[in-house]
Amino acid sequence: MPRQNVHILSHFSILGKMLSPLRAKILFTLLGAAIIGGGIFFRMSESNEASEVRIQNTQSLFAETSPAATGVASAATSTATANMPVPILVYHIVRPSYPSDSRAVRALAHTPQVFDAEMKYLGDAGYHVTTFAALESHLEHGTPLPINPIILSFDDGWSDQFTYAFPILEKYHYPAEFFVFTNPIGHRGFLSWDELRTMLKAGMIIGDHTRSHPFLTKIADPAKLWDEIDGSKLLIEKTLGITVNEFAYPFGQYDATTTALVKKAGYKAARGDYLSRNATGPTLSELYALGALNAPTTTEAFMLRFPKR
Ligand SMILES: [Zn+2]
Repeated sequence: MPRQNVHILSHFSILGKMLSPLRAKILFTLLGAAIIGGGIFFRMSESNEASEVRIQNTQSLFAETSPAATGVASAATSTATANMPVPILVYHIVRPSYPSDSRAVRALAHTPQVFDAEMKYLGDAGYHVTTFAALESHLEHGTPLPINPIILSFDDGWSDQFTYAFPILEKYHYPAEFFVFTNPIGHRGFLSWDELRTMLKAGMIIGDHTRSHPFLTKIADPAKLWDEIDGSKLLIEKTLGITVNEFAYPFGQYDATTTALVKKAGYKAARGDYLSRNATGPTLSELYALGALNAPTTTEAFMLRFPKR
């Protein structure tokens, strides 16, 4: 099921290149209405409520790790992150929970109350929220980082992040980086360009997460691969008038080829899989393979992962 949807998205992106924007829009709408059991776009035959539920339950599709790897059990048994000098947290879904939420969604989702409690705890426990830019400059030039630094990131560009997480980040004055893939920007359920502009103005950072969220290591066509990595970057930069310096590999998957292209496209750093790759670092050589972890979805698990400093 998840792969099917990802597949559908990548077909959308290929089609998009062959068609004028208007024709593409019409075709996408028709396709969206016709695809059975897949697709994240609005289906015309569907009631609003059914459509909402379907969108809500697609929110685990693009997650960078299996839900089994998150949550209380793994938090209690893992000490890896306690040794990570610069933990990078990943959030996907921040919104109220609904009875219709799938297990996969529940395993990844934070209610606004839990998210607020985690943000408050970070400050109370002696952590200092910093940025990828600060980490890059630390590794490249030795610029000092704050003590007990931690980086916050959000993946996949769900509009809930704007509605629920962004006001809480503003409340605590925490910068966070939002990794968006460009094809669904402005579609129902996803952030719009205007929302991205609003977040930028408030000090948030926008990172790149490709055009269609594919498994990059499985793309055989070099032009397609380059477009996913570089084309999406240029689109965000042109539309928002910014420079995009960070990249997050979809599903955390990368290899030597993708990393080389990410460097060539001009990114300064890239976030990879969820292994504690930077348990003793990160070092300069790991800037394009930064390890990260999904934020624990209960405050108890969060506190276990990040003990008071
Ligand atoms: Zn993703």
